[in-house]
Amino acid sequence: MLSNMPNSSSRATTSPAMLELARMLASCDLKVTRPRLAVLKILKNSTTPLSVQELAAALPPLPTINGVTIYRILESFTERGLIRLVNLRHNHLDYELVERHDDHHHIVCTKCGLIEDFYGCGASKLMSAAIKNSRHFATVNEHSVELFGLCKHCVKL
Ligand SMILES: [Zn+2]
Ligand SMILES: [Zn+2]
Ligand SMILES: [Zn+2]
Repeated sequence: MLSNMPNSSSRATTSPAMLELARMLASCDLKVTRPRLAVLKILKNSTTPLSVQELAAALPPLPTINGVTIYRILESFTERGLIRLVNLRHNHLDYELVERHDDHHHIVCTKCGLIEDFYGCGASKLMSAAIKNSRHFATVNEHSVELFGLCKHCVKL
């Protein structure tokens, strides 16, 4: 009976939230490791896309995590479609989690950098029209739309 008790080494993967993260990794054929779980957890809890620096700053101090591991983890996540890169014109790329059926995009303030999500980009219509008129393309699988403008605060400055 006692052998079923979670011990300290497995505690990190036994909470419901951690089990969900572990399941997300497994469904992408990624081995469940502490560094991967830690990176995924931060991306999952963030309401805005994160730069590598922001991500690194939010990570718990794990002996197995350094700059190289973070890049490798992000690369493996991107390859499997678990996360996507967004270009918010911040002179670096940001990463965010791809939630299933979640087609959201961002409006970015070009003055203060404020980010707001928006839905309803109408890309499916655009994509079928583009394919219909395309000479060389058979399918479109992805799209990226980011909008840039001034927030209500900055427009008054
Ligand atoms: Zn987003
Ligand atoms: Zn602004
Ligand atoms: Zn869209």
